[in-house]
Amino acid sequence: MMKINGDRLWDRLMEIAQIGGTPNGGVCRLTLSEEDKKGRLLFEDWCKGLGCSIRVDAMGNLFATYPGKDPYLPTLLLGSHLDSQPTGGKYDGVMGVLAGLEVIHTLHDQNYVPDRNIVVASWTNEEGARFTPAMIGSGVFSETFSLDYAYQQKDKEGITLHDALNSIGYKGTDSVKPNEFQYALELHIEQGPILEREEKQIGIVTGVQGIRWYDIHISGKECHAGPTPMDYRIDPMQSVPLLLTELYKISEVFGEDARITIGYIDASPAVKNTVPEKASISLDIRHPNEDQLTKMHEFVLSVIQTIDKESKSSIELEEIWHSESVVFDDNCVHAVQQASETLGYPHRRIISGAGHDSVYTSKVIPTSMIFIPCKDGLSHNELESAKKEDVIAGTNVLLHASLQLQHK
Ligand SMILES: [Zn+2]
Repeated sequence: MMKINGDRLWDRLMEIAQIGGTPNGGVCRLTLSEEDKKGRLLFEDWCKGLGCSIRVDAMGNLFATYPGKDPYLPTLLLGSHLDSQPTGGKYDGVMGVLAGLEVIHTLHDQNYVPDRNIVVASWTNEEGARFTPAMIGSGVFSETFSLDYAYQQKDKEGITLHDALNSIGYKGTDSVKPNEFQYALELHIEQGPILEREEKQIGIVTGVQGIRWYDIHISGKECHAGPTPMDYRIDPMQSVPLLLTELYKISEVFGEDARITIGYIDASPAVKNTVPEKASISLDIRHPNEDQLTKMHEFVLSVIQTIDKESKSSIELEEIWHSESVVFDDNCVHAVQQASETLGYPHRRIISGAGHDSVYTSKVIPTSMIFIPCKDGLSHNELESAKKEDVIAGTNVLLHASLQLQHK
């Protein structure tokens, strides 16, 4: 059975991790920085060594094409992203790009010419650490965002994404459209604790959670902590425990796939001896099934309405963001399942709790993902770590799923 070269893949991962490497063993390779440029050039060099042609689109998305027998057949798209968080790790994103490269390098070693071209992509600004929103490169590719909208985004220094692309020479002119691709696969670390805890090497990713973000605004009346008797007060803080108790019931009502996170509570003015005028609560709810997520949304609405009526304060729900859940393509999921079984790796089906470029590619290309465990489920952290044997297993699954999808 064909297998990838694990040492070569690992050595490349460690080599590219030197670019933007931090003293604590992490990586800082912010999108469109000088480090990002160096990472891209190294990746391009490796691809060119295998006879790949390189294209760069107007978003700086990078596409390396390994030629197959028939250049006119729709193509397989592999890849992920080379950018990192400011205190990121060695695996998030970059592993998926280098795994794609390792797949074509393995075919090259074997003199195996695939029926179709294979394209390895690296998407610009997946992390959203320098420019928001995250995944903007694949977002423009899938026509979720316009190019103009993307170009206008600014980093903390006020530099636009457009100028940042120009400054590292990656505002490309190649036109790369979704309709040239037949399937897309992305290998990534799980960024959660499930695979490690269950001792599974491979996560067959069947979809991505839908996400809704809110701010809950509670308005009361600012007054002195001493002279104002308790029953004279309109105190927004008194509604907070009621809201939390009722909102957390979402997890009982909607089961183990539901997630609810209250990240912070604010008050204003935030002073010890003053009843605040306003309080606000952040709310993040998630579910892999969009219908269930809609029902969770309705549950939140009814909690807000009920407590608004019962309390003296007035409570309003502001909707901030909605990212619909994604169900990945059956053929792709099946190819990953088959490859895991053929190779004999312990595996399970899993839902992604984080966003990925695959969320956007899946809007325009049949797509799925492969996860491998990461230590303690940690990511977006310099301590992020994955085992060499798991990186190799994931890449072998990517190879065999790719071979299978070649013939579909
Ligand atoms: Zn990532």
